[in-house]
Amino acid sequence: MNVPLLDLKEQNAALRPEIEAALGRVLDTNGFILGGEVAELECELAGYCGTKYAIGCASGSDAILLALMALDIGPGDEVITTPYSFFATVSSITRLGAVPVFVDIDPVTYNLDPALVESKITTRTKAIELVHLYGQCSDMDALAAISEKHGIPLVEDAAQAIGAEESGVRAGAMSSIGCFSFYPSKNLGGMGDGGFVTTNDDALAKKLLALRVHGSEERYYHKYVGLNSRLDGFQGAVLRVKLPHLDGWTDARRANAERYRQLFTDAGLTEQIGIPVERENAKHIYNQYVIRVPNDRDALRAFLTEKGIGTDIYYPVPLHLQECFAYLGYTDGDLPESEKAARETLALPIFPELRPEQQAYVVETIAEFYSEH
Ligand SMILES: *Cc1c(COP(=O)(O)O)cnc(C)c1O
Repeated sequence: MNVPLLDLKEQNAALRPEIEAALGRVLDTNGFILGGEVAELECELAGYCGTKYAIGCASGSDAILLALMALDIGPGDEVITTPYSFFATVSSITRLGAVPVFVDIDPVTYNLDPALVESKITTRTKAIELVHLYGQCSDMDALAAISEKHGIPLVEDAAQAIGAEESGVRAGAMSSIGCFSFYPSKNLGGMGDGGFVTTNDDALAKKLLALRVHGSEERYYHKYVGLNSRLDGFQGAVLRVKLPHLDGWTDARRANAERYRQLFTDAGLTEQIGIPVERENAKHIYNQYVIRVPNDRDALRAFLTEKGIGTDIYYPVPLHLQECFAYLGYTDGDLPESEKAARETLALPIFPELRPEQQAYVVETIAEFYSEH
């Protein structure tokens, strides 16, 4: 049996007639850059996230960059963040000449450990950029309390967390600015690059709208040095076809996670591997289903590959140890939980169309590995 980590073929085939019609509408209207489809999508996304504004842009990476630019983050400023995330979480900070100040993660959720944040706050701290990793929200009550106490804005890197909730509030609606990605492997994936930001703040929205078009509120009059970061009409059209299906896909991912939990428990494997833990009040959307494998992670991965099962490691090198950030002066051992997670985590297939027999095969194959090792 073959079980890919992610297979979009079935989803795309089911939507193909609708997607082709939507692409045709863009061709007919020439709305290639932003345009009518993107404007409609932005309204629908704001409704979905429960925010006043949703503003499309060229990628999730740009969404974070735009958010930090809107908050005036620049040279000499510090941004507290996690080293256990995708590169763009941190490159957006350094690209602006600001300094990432890394705080270690909670080993259970893999998200920023709020108990470690306060001691890193200085007079130069301009934002706390948290990540809702794998699709589960960070501990927002604790982070909001720190944010309020010190008057430091929160930015959500919600690239993996569209539709995730904390106490009934959706990702993107719990901070000054939420940042999302339409990269094809995200729960709401485009057919190319794309992203968006959310906010409830009128002034920030106005600035974000300008920043994505070279910093101009009026064409050819530049208030800021912004970016060229616009969502294109074809992506807008495709995403409008997909958005109404998102909650159904999320339900299917959650059902798959529950099936894995039962299968791993029944197979007696929860001693050898750690399965995802959902925090109380949090709705996990399982962009990734990540297990912890304290021993022989790489051997298990090789075994699964040999048996036709796709896996991946998110992420093998924590950001404080990346070559390009060596100048920040961190060394091995500085952020032990992030380093341990990088050695021990393994993502298994979780996409909505995954079949129960494929999941059973994944768990049986892991059991086979442990019976041989
Ligand atoms: C995917 C992702 C991004 C970047 O999104 P792109 O659209 O690929 O630029 C940023 N942060 C996290 C946590 C991501 O998973």
